[in-house]
Amino acid sequence: MAFCYIGLGANLNDPVSTVKIALHEMSLIPQSRFVAASKIYVSKPMGPADQPDYVNAVALIETQLNAHQLFEYTCRIEQDHGRTRNGEHWGPRTLDLDILLFDQDIIDDDKLTVPHYGIKDREFVIYPLLDISPNLVLPCGTSIESLTENVPLNGMTAL
Ligand code: ATP
Ligand code: CA
Ligand code: CA
Ligand code: CA
Repeated sequence: MAFCYIGLGANLNDPVSTVKIALHEMSLIPQSRFVAASKIYVSKPMGPADQPDYVNAVALIETQLNAHQLFEYTCRIEQDHGRTRNGEHWGPRTLDLDILLFDQDIIDDDKLTVPHYGIKDREFVIYPLLDISPNLVLPCGTSIESLTENVPLNGMTAL
């Protein structure tokens, strides 16, 4: 079994409902158990500023799947929410699911980089992770709590 943290983000078409539904859908992933969800947050967009604020959360799932199998399910959930993009990097999206951590595993291949490369810089990942696991430590030994020193909330609020 592995513990996997998954980041959710949405900023089109009723994103609060999308995030709540996606959390439920993640609870239905086979050979897995939904352990916990963070609070739901509203954050400022990265990249292009001419897009709606984001709704974000993090989920913790315990799974017997490997990381790539789990990723297939999270991609399917994104697609079920009609993930469409205008091609712009960090542009608006109906639903984005990122594998943030998979146990203390380090993965770097064509499909997955785990831990997710943005963890140390993104307030909408760091603070929700702390809701679930205040003592969480990255494989490199850095505690998530220590990351808050250099990453302010940047206007993010909990719903
Ligand atoms: P960012 O990765 O900076 O958060 P994004 O989420 O908008 O940006 P996507 O277009 O959703 O980027 O994903 C691009 C690619 O990232 C996907 O094709 C996927 O294979 C790859 N990827 C690498 N590592 C991960 C991971 N840990 N979780 C999800 N996707 C990943
Ligand atoms: Ca493991
Ligand atoms: Ca992302
Ligand atoms: Ca993504």
